[in-house]
Amino acid sequence: MTEIKKRVALVTGGSRGIGRAIAVALARQGAFVIVNYSSSPEAAQETLNMVREQGGDGELLKFPVQDSQAVENAFDGIKSRHGQLDILVNNAGISRDGLLLRMKDEEWLQTLAVNLNGSFFCARAASRLMLKARWGRIINISSVVGEMGNAGQVPYVSSKAGLIGMTKAMAKELASRNVTVNAITPGFIETDMTAALDDKLREEHMKAIPLGRYGQADEVAQLVAFLTSDNAAYITGQVIGINGGMYM
Ligand code: NAP
Repeated sequence: MTEIKKRVALVTGGSRGIGRAIAVALARQGAFVIVNYSSSPEAAQETLNMVREQGGDGELLKFPVQDSQAVENAFDGIKSRHGQLDILVNNAGISRDGLLLRMKDEEWLQTLAVNLNGSFFCARAASRLMLKARWGRIINISSVVGEMGNAGQVPYVSSKAGLIGMTKAMAKELASRNVTVNAITPGFIETDMTAALDDKLREEHMKAIPLGRYGQADEVAQLVAFLTSDNAAYITGQVIGINGGMYM
């Protein structure tokens, strides 16, 4: 795999789970990694320690992705400290699950705010720097359920399906300046998010996964690393599944 030299990458929600694995994988490829987090400073510091253990470097940047002004301030800081942002991974995400009949406004709005608005705010700010540099990679972490639907997850699924449309629109708009935009749709990956599922549900999921296991965060991270490398220069506007075969 081509090494990413002196590139500056921002991973939203880099404190835990898939985001942490992505931060470490990008560091391994030589990028300076900005680890965004919202409420887990110790976990974020642990990610940064792991980045440094890989011989890489980075910094912590706390902001809630759903706060447009906080995102703008964070990007002002990135611009003045680094003068560039080459890679954005919109990974921060939450899920508020339950039946449609009982879903509260707040749960719907909160999920859309973090997963969809947050990705939009970060991509808009990142695109200014990338268009100027005539090079950029934006990866949106969607979900297999954004492609296939899932009962009990109307807000989450809507936000993840929205990310797929956003990816394609942005890819068309930014392509002429060599900025690629792709979505990744993970299936069930072992993280805090899926650890919250009860055993019965996990057993049911397993039956739907031809490869017969949950995925690992690092497997998703390796795909992100590839898509942000020079080897993926001709891939844009794509939705790439990594789900053990549960959706084909
Ligand atoms: P996770 O273990 O719950 O971690 C979520 C991450 O998002 C944390 O680092 C958290 O940081 C951050 N975050 C949450 N709200 C935030 C906010 N408002 N602003 C900034 N950061 C915020 O989740 P995960 O399983 O790694 O999932 C990562 C992404 O992959 C999500 O977008 C998720 O929807 C997607 N995904 C996951 C799976 C799966 O099976 N795990 C499958 C498909 C897609 P703090 O703790 O600091 O708040």
